[in-house]
Amino acid sequence: MTYGGGPNSIQTLAHELGHAYHNWVMADLPWAHRSLTSCLAESASTFAEAVVRDALLAATRDDDSRLALLDRELADATTFLANIPMRFELERQMFVMRKDGPLAAAALSSATDQLQRRWYGDSLGRSFPLFWADKLHFYLTDSPFYNFPYTFGYVFSGMIYARARAEGPAWAQEYRDLLRATGSHSGEAIATRFLSVDLTATSTWSDAIQTRLGPLIDEFEALVAARA
Ligand SMILES: [Zn+2]
Repeated sequence: MTYGGGPNSIQTLAHELGHAYHNWVMADLPWAHRSLTSCLAESASTFAEAVVRDALLAATRDDDSRLALLDRELADATTFLANIPMRFELERQMFVMRKDGPLAAAALSSATDQLQRRWYGDSLGRSFPLFWADKLHFYLTDSPFYNFPYTFGYVFSGMIYARARAEGPAWAQEYRDLLRATGSHSGEAIATRFLSVDLTATSTWSDAIQTRLGPLIDEFEALVAARA
């Protein structure tokens, strides 16, 4: 990776070290048990990012720096919880529209505009109707819907991280076993076995989002209110 020395580089380094660790704990498994689905491939990388983020927050006392850290975290959350689902819906709509013939630029722009308005609501200043032309993932024809794994991985790794925090260092071996299972088991099976949660229940996901973001949003709002 290109290391520029700033906070983004530190996060990226943590992310890539997470991938390296993930591969390392699976290194002795048979080849057929080492191939990850895109939904589970980011489990250790985003876990490592969370470890670094919390260490930074724990070490940061002054309000300006905390606000900057929280702002970056919440901006990421907006990407995973609004932008990516918007992309998923747009891609699904492309398949529906394609049944009626080749896709025209005007129709794609109009669909993009409507979905951005729906997902961002009042917070959207200006839509970006040419997003469909700009985003590379829509053109990866051999891996359609290369969007939802990002959101899945983001929330799922949050569940793993919350469990690790709750259990402490004694859970480290469970964490390694969980990572070792990612090449041979589904996300649902791993969640049941290691986290005792049901991924098919909507509340599992909304609870995980609330646990992860609730305290960060509260602190962010308090810091902003204190400046007003
Ligand atoms: Zn990654």
